[in-house]
Amino acid sequence: MENYDIIVVGAGPGGLFAAINCGGENKKVLVIERNSSAGKKLLISGAGRCNLTHQGNIKDFLNYYGDNGGFIKHSLFKFTNEDLMDFFKKRGIALISNEDGKVFPETLKSSDILNILLKECKRKEISIKYNQRVEKVNYNKEKLAFYIETKENRYTSKYLVIATGGKSYSNTGSTGDGYVFAEKLGHTIEEPAPSLTPLYIKDYPFRELSGTSFENLPIALWRNKKKIKSYRGDVLLTHKNISGPGILNFSRYVLPGDIIRINFIGIKGEEAFRAEFIEKVISRGKSMIKTILKEYPLSKRFIDKLMDIAGIFQDLKCGELSKKNRNRLVEILTNFPMEVEGLGDFNLAMATRGGVSLKEVSPKTMESRIIKGLYFCGEVLDIDGDTGGYNIQGAFSMGKLAAKWIIKDMKGE
Ligand SMILES: Cc1cc2nc3c(=O)[nH]c(=O)nc-3n(C[C@H](O)[C@H](O)[C@H](O)COP(=O)(O)OP(=O)(O)OC[C@H]3O[C@@H](n4cnc5c(N)ncnc54)[C@H](O)[C@@H]3O)c2cc1C
Repeated sequence: MENYDIIVVGAGPGGLFAAINCGGENKKVLVIERNSSAGKKLLISGAGRCNLTHQGNIKDFLNYYGDNGGFIKHSLFKFTNEDLMDFFKKRGIALISNEDGKVFPETLKSSDILNILLKECKRKEISIKYNQRVEKVNYNKEKLAFYIETKENRYTSKYLVIATGGKSYSNTGSTGDGYVFAEKLGHTIEEPAPSLTPLYIKDYPFRELSGTSFENLPIALWRNKKKIKSYRGDVLLTHKNISGPGILNFSRYVLPGDIIRINFIGIKGEEAFRAEFIEKVISRGKSMIKTILKEYPLSKRFIDKLMDIAGIFQDLKCGELSKKNRNRLVEILTNFPMEVEGLGDFNLAMATRGGVSLKEVSPKTMESRIIKGLYFCGEVLDIDGDTGGYNIQGAFSMGKLAAKWIIKDMKGE
């Protein structure tokens, strides 16, 4: 049995950062990783470029974690995007941001980010055991100690950080093991499901429009004939499903059977567009309807398709458009309903919603409210961010906070 002060399960950004911030001053810190190397998911993040954070105001970050933003507030404010950027800049990594505010290493190589983390682990003399999958985690109340088993070895420690990630892209090593450990230790698991994932639509009508994208469209979610959420974001039509940042971010709220309604006119609300469109149709009787539609940010192919869906002849003139068809066209343009057949599975989802219930973890310390000395950080928790660097920032901030409180506890502060 090997004895450590602190054991971290999982060498993703959350686990590595927790370990780095616990390390040094002769503390014995161990990271156990099932893969033969660290940060497999980090390496593929941002298409291999690692969108590690966002350059927006940290206060605005709270809007990008769905309904659970409140939980992550403390960790984000204690270790902000600026702090994270400084951490890498001080270690020689130049960073850039794109027009959307997403931050990347200038080299656009996620391996540069990972290498800094591994270098820090080395500097702080943190042990990392690779190719060891933690299979069992037990807690001994009398001894206040955790017992961790892999096929290869047994370990014990006073502090345990579970940083095993979510369930998506399981070939990166995150297969949901952390949920099993947490449950065994008395924690509740909110049903994990794919997030940041495309939506499959019943009788999907836009197959041949694959590649068409729209900026900043209003999207509404309907369930049991009630509107339950609305959102704005970019939408991409693919040959199989609807995707794009707006849909991916919204997917955390969606269930099969829901109706998604999209306003393809985007800039205008339904009523404003209706009034403007009717006025144009009435005053320009000899113009083709298509000509009017081309005045909006819609491609010719898309207009043709929508007119087909509305059952309106392609060369119909405004003066020939019946009131019924006019209303139908406005409805299709501003409130296009699509029934969700299913969501992209864990092989497509970039994040996991659900996970270790936030009610049983302190947002101020990341410590379990059930077992002293047990900490969680990153995607294993029931919190998932939007695209834009919010997940990796979240994992770093939570890892940092967990470490801070472990150190305080060790010092008896
Ligand atoms: C394709 C893709 C692209 C993404 N791009 C971005 C992006 O650009 N920006 C962004 O912010 N987010 C992005 N994400 C999400 C982001 O990568 C994750 O949210 C983040 O990596 C979570 O960090 P983590 O440390 O919590 O978990 P992970 O990175 O999942 O790490 C968990 C680690 O635990 C290990 N582990 C699991 N179980 C065990 C066990 N039983 N024993 C030992 N080890 C175990 C795993 O092997 C893994 O190494 C992307 C995700 C995907 C899938």
